[in-house]
Amino acid sequence: MSVALAEQPLILIVDDELHLRNSLGSLLGLHGFAAIPADGGRAAIELLQSQQFDLVLLDLFMPDVDGHQVMDFIIERKLDICVIVISGDVSIDSAISALRRGAYDFLRKPYEPEELLLKMENALIKRRLEKENKAMNLQLEESERWYRYMVNSSPDIIYTLDANGRFTFLNDRVEPLLGYRKESLIGQHYSALIYLEDLEQARYILNEKRAGDRASRNMELRVRHNIESKLLTLEFSSFGMYEESQADRSIRHVGTYGVAKDVTERKRAEQTINYQAYHDLLTGLANRILFKDHLDLAIAQAKRNQQMLAVMFLDMDRFKVVNDTLGHVIGDSLLKKVASRLKGCLREGDTLARQGGDEFTLLLPQVDDREDAMRTAEKMIKSFDAPIQVDEHELYVTISIGIALYPLDGESMDSLIKNADIAMYDSKAKGRNRYQLYSSSMNVSFAERLSIEMQMRKAIDRQEFQVFYQPQINVSTGRISGVEALVRWVSPLHGGITPLEFIPLAEETGLILSIGEFVLRTTCKQAMLWKRAGLPPLRIAVNISARQIEQDGFCDYISQLLHEYQLDGSMLELEITESTLLNDGEHIIEKLQMIASRGIKIALDDFGTGYSSLSYIQKFPIDTLKIDQSFMRGIPGNLSNASIVSAVCAMAQGLKLNLIAEGVETPGQLQFLRTLKCSEAQGFLFSKPLPGDEITGLLLRPDPLVPDMFQYRNESEGSASKWN
Ligand code: C2E
Ligand code: MG
Ligand code: MG
Repeated sequence: MSVALAEQPLILIVDDELHLRNSLGSLLGLHGFAAIPADGGRAAIELLQSQQFDLVLLDLFMPDVDGHQVMDFIIERKLDICVIVISGDVSIDSAISALRRGAYDFLRKPYEPEELLLKMENALIKRRLEKENKAMNLQLEESERWYRYMVNSSPDIIYTLDANGRFTFLNDRVEPLLGYRKESLIGQHYSALIYLEDLEQARYILNEKRAGDRASRNMELRVRHNIESKLLTLEFSSFGMYEESQADRSIRHVGTYGVAKDVTERKRAEQTINYQAYHDLLTGLANRILFKDHLDLAIAQAKRNQQMLAVMFLDMDRFKVVNDTLGHVIGDSLLKKVASRLKGCLREGDTLARQGGDEFTLLLPQVDDREDAMRTAEKMIKSFDAPIQVDEHELYVTISIGIALYPLDGESMDSLIKNADIAMYDSKAKGRNRYQLYSSSMNVSFAERLSIEMQMRKAIDRQEFQVFYQPQINVSTGRISGVEALVRWVSPLHGGITPLEFIPLAEETGLILSIGEFVLRTTCKQAMLWKRAGLPPLRIAVNISARQIEQDGFCDYISQLLHEYQLDGSMLELEITESTLLNDGEHIIEKLQMIASRGIKIALDDFGTGYSSLSYIQKFPIDTLKIDQSFMRGIPGNLSNASIVSAVCAMAQGLKLNLIAEGVETPGQLQFLRTLKCSEAQGFLFSKPLPGDEITGLLLRPDPLVPDMFQYRNESEGSASKWN
């Protein structure tokens, strides 16, 4: 027997005829088979139930249970067994019915032993192959299950496309990720998924034809979610699939295999990081890096197209005051609102950036001429006419702008920014709330400015500042009712520098705080000296800038000074300007009320030059109005000034305010004030500002200061001729 089987097959011989069973048994035994006989169908079924056979040699006609029934049993029990029917019945029908029931072969009695053995051998080989196949199939099935499991549980989308770009396979991931049922996508072109703007790129990525190292790796495309209105960013890696033709061995592109990873979150994080690197987080504007980037590009473009561009430097006026008095939270909100108001004045291609603090830069990448840039600057300044509401605060904002144009004012990025900055400082110096085009002469004044600033710092230590006093005269008696303290700076380098020149710079740099303290202290000391000299109490006015008042502890500082020099609050008058009131009404009111509650007087200086309305002024605890000296010009001949001064006089009387007219230089002006019953006057007609000891001399004089009406003080007298 040549059947090669790993284990010895076990054969069941089923025949009701004993001799046939026996002869068959011996034949098989002879050929090395193990065989068990059964004398009929019933016995066969019993044996089949208890043992595992490989082959049954089955007689069909048996008295009790016949061969067909045995086969039915095998079918019913799904027994894995091979059946060869050996029957005396020659009819075709019974052969067919046996084969239908799954018999492997049919053998007619009497048979040739060789024929039987051959059929048995074939049957057993077939059975072995089937068994092996089954085992292999099981294995295959198992590995396919694993493969499917792995593919479907991959966190990434796995797909294949045919050569025309239509999906032939998609793993389960596509549904939770993109909201598509994968069946609905099979057969569809990949473009159905891709965001329109990325379609062109997708042609080379999704439908990759290259294989190996040259294939696409980690390429990003945006994909639309099927149900939700969101775009996802997927990172694709794909390569072409090729098949070798059996016929001519040629290689043919059959499609694409690809993996797509959802990188939306990572992308978002990257974008955030990127955004943070190039933007100012408070205002959302570009930061200085992005600004320079855009400017660099714009300069290259302007050069190529021979066009002009404008760079502006913008600085909020007195922003520090808001920050210092209302706090950073309000300051931040204000900055945001200022940024958005500025943006409202600009075109899409313009770049507005925050340089830091309250400084902004602006790039207009294409301007036709200077006027073009000036119009934008004007528009921005105008946009702040209306106050900005931050919480309960109504804040008036002004900005100063400097403009530099390419190529006129600079050809490089740095020179344009620097010159715009210089021009901005010039706007500040010229009174703020305005714009200024750069001019080369500014470079000098800028350098000068810097040098003055440095000198001023040293001057504080070197005690180069002095305080002069200018008398204020009671118009009806001609006697000195008070003095105004005015600071003087004698620089060994520059000589006398007027307050008009250095006070704005001192305010800008914060040096005004030290200077202001010096003036207050000196004045109090002088007052103490006059008091000790036995002179009657004299009101002394001191100019205070907004930054001083807004400083924390200002009221306490004043109280402490008064205490130190043993002075009564009522002899001190603080002169503030309208712009100080406008800076931040509510907060200033509180401070002024605190000052007033200590008996200290408050004067509104330079009245008429600002735009405060009467009702506005009434909110503040003001004792004195000082009519600005510009209104005294030409009086009484100048009718418009005359009518303003008389209106202010009437108003002050109505409000029971003390009124001081400034800049009184002629007896005619004084006469005019007398007829209006203006209470006090100050000016060169009476005296220039003088050092303290010279004022002492004036105070000791028994007669009034103006001749005729009072007594006239000669202009050439007085030691401070440099000043005034
Ligand atoms: P102001 O407070 O309005 O002071 C009056 C200015 O007018 C003084 O100029 C004074 O010298 C000048 N003046 C007085 N009488 C006449 C006159 O008859 N005709 C003309 N044309 N001018 C007259 P000054 O001393 O140059 O001060 C200029 C401004 O600087 C002051 O204006 C004040 O706002 C500011 N200032 C002066 N000293 C201080 C100070 O200690 N602190 C602060 N914050 N500001 C000060
Ligand atoms: Mg003053
Ligand atoms: Mg004044």
